[in-house]
Amino acid sequence: MTHVPRKRFGQHFLCDQTIIRQIIASLAPEPHEHLIEIGPGQGALTLPILKQVQQLEVVELDRDLIPELEERTQRAGKLKIYAADALTFDFASIKTDERLLRIFGNLPYNISTPLIFHLLTFAPVVADMLFMLQKEVAERIAAVPSTSDYGRLSVMVQYHCEVDVLFDVPPHAFYPPPQVQSSIIRLIPYQAYPHRAANYALFEAIVKQAFSQRRKTLRNSLKNLVSDDVWARSQLSSHLRAENLSVADFVAISNAMEKV
Ligand code: SAH
Repeated sequence: MTHVPRKRFGQHFLCDQTIIRQIIASLAPEPHEHLIEIGPGQGALTLPILKQVQQLEVVELDRDLIPELEERTQRAGKLKIYAADALTFDFASIKTDERLLRIFGNLPYNISTPLIFHLLTFAPVVADMLFMLQKEVAERIAAVPSTSDYGRLSVMVQYHCEVDVLFDVPPHAFYPPPQVQSSIIRLIPYQAYPHRAANYALFEAIVKQAFSQRRKTLRNSLKNLVSDDVWARSQLSSHLRAENLSVADFVAISNAMEKV
């Protein structure tokens, strides 16, 4: 039975063995680790990894793929399949022992940004994440301040994680080939945060509002969240725009509000 790739599930199956080997080498999975794959699809990564480590958990939304996946992996090792939507999946609930989770996958591109935001909420129980993303999204995640790629996604991911873009993957490595270039990215949640927001919800709200009106100066866009005396006491000019602030600056502004 051949599965026709579904656009609505963002299905682009990896078929280039060199790229598959390169991804697995970057992941470097070990048998004793708690590994979780998002979107195993037809098992391009799942099967060779399962053979290597003997046990693996996967989250797959498309139920039609599951019988074939079970069949293919039957003799390779112990595969636990969650037929679920990764966007709402409670990753913390599957942490059953002291091991932190290692999450990886060739992510469905149509949901990659909301999925990354969802995954950030589990940062404390995650050792690392290795994902295939659109190159453009990987660049936004890794962007530095005062560049056009820098935005809410960059700040929120970099608040929680060390970010490394590892290598690019061309469209012809997939079936069907996507319209865009892809990149492999590694995110390592900080065990000790370099900058810690005293009130995380406030920090989140400030970052969100600042970038929702990124052309405005911060004094304007954050009028209802950051008071004038905080700007006056901070080292930051209120003429700056959201894209000029580092993660440390956003944390400093939200922490200064906490002390008012
Ligand atoms: N890992 C495979 C497939 C990648 S395509 C490979 O590299 O070949 C993306 C996969 O994510 C598909 O299997 C798709 O069905 C699955 N998927 C799409 N949306 C999902 C969601 N919300 N939650 C979990 N899996 C999802």
